[in-house]
Amino acid sequence: MNRLRIYWDSRCLKHPGTGGNAEVPERLLAIQDAINKSTLLKEAEISTANPCSIQDLALVHDEKYLQFIQDACEKEVFLASAEIMLAKDSWTALKLTVGAGIESVQSIQNNEMDCAFIAMRPPGHHAERAKAMGFCLVNNVAITAEYAKKNGFERILILDWDVHHGNGTQHIFWDDPNVFFISIHQENIYPFMDDRPEHSGGGEAVGKTLNVPLPYGSDGNDLKQVWLEKIDPTVIQFQPNLIIISAGFDAHKLDHLAGLQFVEEDYQWMTSKVNQWAKRFQAKIISYLEGGYNLTALANSVVVHCETLLKGN
Ligand SMILES: [Zn+2]
Repeated sequence: MNRLRIYWDSRCLKHPGTGGNAEVPERLLAIQDAINKSTLLKEAEISTANPCSIQDLALVHDEKYLQFIQDACEKEVFLASAEIMLAKDSWTALKLTVGAGIESVQSIQNNEMDCAFIAMRPPGHHAERAKAMGFCLVNNVAITAEYAKKNGFERILILDWDVHHGNGTQHIFWDDPNVFFISIHQENIYPFMDDRPEHSGGGEAVGKTLNVPLPYGSDGNDLKQVWLEKIDPTVIQFQPNLIIISAGFDAHKLDHLAGLQFVEEDYQWMTSKVNQWAKRFQAKIISYLEGGYNLTALANSVVVHCETLLKGN
């Protein structure tokens, strides 16, 4: 059994998001409800977070950009580039969400836990250094990885299985040899850029980005095939000492934002494969919620993901 910490914080409900049935507070309520009905409530440590500092955000983002976002939250405007509504509380939600990642790295270093799932919002993987995109304001996984790097982790794997390509994360670590970025996503959908296998890193990090685009309609069997052929050997060669997951659940067949056909068992399978890497390389796991918009599929998939993290095999 692993020691699993689940971060969930009611203050993240106050960030409005998209409205309608996309990136909305109800996502976190559905997750909370499903966790409360599962054995995770007893077996995992459920925790709130402390806000990160501006210095933490500035590990990745330009200070001018951060000021722009803070002002936009203060003015409670609609932010067109990310397609979301902001409120004063969005700034707090953002700092808490990043804070959970920072605290996870600290807890791992203090040997207080083996893995974390951060069920908080806004999500992060589309956010560029100086641009909000796709419901994302700041890049939670990228800031967490930079913080971990600064604190001695030399081989960090970021595995992004959200159905959309993690453009922001890829660009931020494009020429960073200490961070391996892998993205499994549906091809030819948002954000429509730089998501092909030939986009594989630059500078000192050529070959340290692996893009695995899947055609519309791909299912768990297609996933397993590319995983075993491409992803598994790549990770085994890299030998990560920290694994960060951009855990979107919008590749689920019930999700209306995209067209892949994953089911709960596929998230269980991927998580179990990540557990095997963690065991093999003595790496710990920090998993961040990204997308996932069908509330039932999201909640069930999160529970399966967390139960598998907890089991550790
Ligand atoms: Zn997504």
